[in-house]
Amino acid sequence: MHILRHYFISLLLLSVLPIEAQSTSVTVLYDDRFLLHDTGAGHPEKPDRLGFIVQHLKKHKTISPKLRWPTFSAATREHLLSVHQASYLDLLDAELQQLTPARPYLTLSTGDTVISKKSLEVAKLASGAAMAGIDAVMQHNSKSAFALVRPPGHHATADRGMGFCIYNHVAVATRYAQKRYGVQRVLIVDIDVHHGNGTQDIFDEHDSVFYFSAHQHPLYPRSGRPTEKGHGKGEGYTINVDVPVGSDEAIILKALNAQLEPAMQRFRPELILVSAGLDAHQSDLLGGLSYTDAGYAAIAQKLVTLANQYAQGRTVWVLEGGYVPENNASAVEAILQVLIDQ
Ligand SMILES: [Zn+2]
Repeated sequence: MHILRHYFISLLLLSVLPIEAQSTSVTVLYDDRFLLHDTGAGHPEKPDRLGFIVQHLKKHKTISPKLRWPTFSAATREHLLSVHQASYLDLLDAELQQLTPARPYLTLSTGDTVISKKSLEVAKLASGAAMAGIDAVMQHNSKSAFALVRPPGHHATADRGMGFCIYNHVAVATRYAQKRYGVQRVLIVDIDVHHGNGTQDIFDEHDSVFYFSAHQHPLYPRSGRPTEKGHGKGEGYTINVDVPVGSDEAIILKALNAQLEPAMQRFRPELILVSAGLDAHQSDLLGGLSYTDAGYAAIAQKLVTLANQYAQGRTVWVLEGGYVPENNASAVEAILQVLIDQ
């Protein structure tokens, strides 16, 4: 009897433990090489804005034990070609060749993105991190993953780097999820203070990817009016929300409930990606909004609820903007706490 009871308890533990392990670990994709994308003195997209987040997480007593930090590879040219035009990839390589010891930085001819010697290599690794986030959630290592990367990606279109972005990591990861895992419907939620013009443009005519963005207006890059709803097959698969300067998180939370949730009842996403720009945080250097850490937690909670409802809990977060290192660290902590409690 005693042995039988022991046997049943063991069975019970075996059935519970893997679920427990899965529900409490979050995969973080980070590599020190992300700090090697050198934008020059005084540039707001500086290494410290990422390095500070990682230092903060590693010394955090309750969050740190819940994180797994797997290694990963850079995206290949083939992965990038699923989003970007070959002519643009060639242009980037050619412009990189123009760098010399006397000219260590240049601004891409396509837009306001500074590159230096390691930038393309680092940006490919950042796309690879987002793809590894897809692997983590699709292979059930974690329900959620957070790619802590530089440079950001959501302004990069198929043929144009701009807004500090070179390759569009969220778009590359979306294509990867579709090709590698046969995911049919992907929701991308962009919470950066700026509109993700690149991501919207790349998926504008597709009905397999739904794009939602709430962003400060007016602000760079000035696209993303609520009237922009997608084209062709993609019509109705884009939601843009204007947020006036000075606003806190109330407007995005309302839009997530009143606009995104009913749309997702119809779309039923199998996977949720988040362009996790943190420059809507109060006192950001480039943004003029006033999101709080509690606001970021509430946004994360809403997206986790949607993911639990439709997407087996799968969310992949990819860092975009956010220009005050301390704010980035506290906002990421608030989001991760929600993902750990998922
Ligand atoms: Zn931004």
